[in-house]
Formats: sequence, structure tokens, C-alpha cells
Amino acid sequence: MTDPATPARPVRRRNCPVCGKGPLDPGARFCSDRCRQVDLGRWLTGAYAIPAEEEPEDDEAPPPSR
Ligand SMILES: [Zn+2]
Repeated sequence: MTDPATPARPVRRRNCPVCGKGPLDPGARFCSDRCRQVDLGRWLTGAYAIPAEEEPEDDEAPPPSR
């Protein structure tokens, strides 16, 4: 799709974060479905790779002793 009245504004075009191919179509996050799967796999792997040493503090913090 080519717009004849395209503004000179630079369009944010990203490359595929997986294989670096690009530029991607506007709105596309990956160049192909395969790269999407790869990224998803990385995501999961990264999640597993996160060391669980830090204690989550999203729980209610214990009130100061009184
Ligand atoms: Zn790709």
C-alpha cells in the first residue's frame, strides 16, 4: 500500500528482533511466524533462566513492629 500523500515524517520501522531482517511491515512485530515462535521460546527460556533468589515483595509488607 502506497499513500501518495505520505508525510515526510519518518515512519518507525523496526527490524525483526529475532533475525534482524527488516524493515518490518507497520504493526508487524516479526518478519515471519517462525521468528515469532523463536521469540516466544526465548521469552519462556528467559523466564526459566531468571534466578528465583529475590523474594517477591508484592505481598503486603509486614507492618513495623509496634
Ligand atoms: Zn525474523
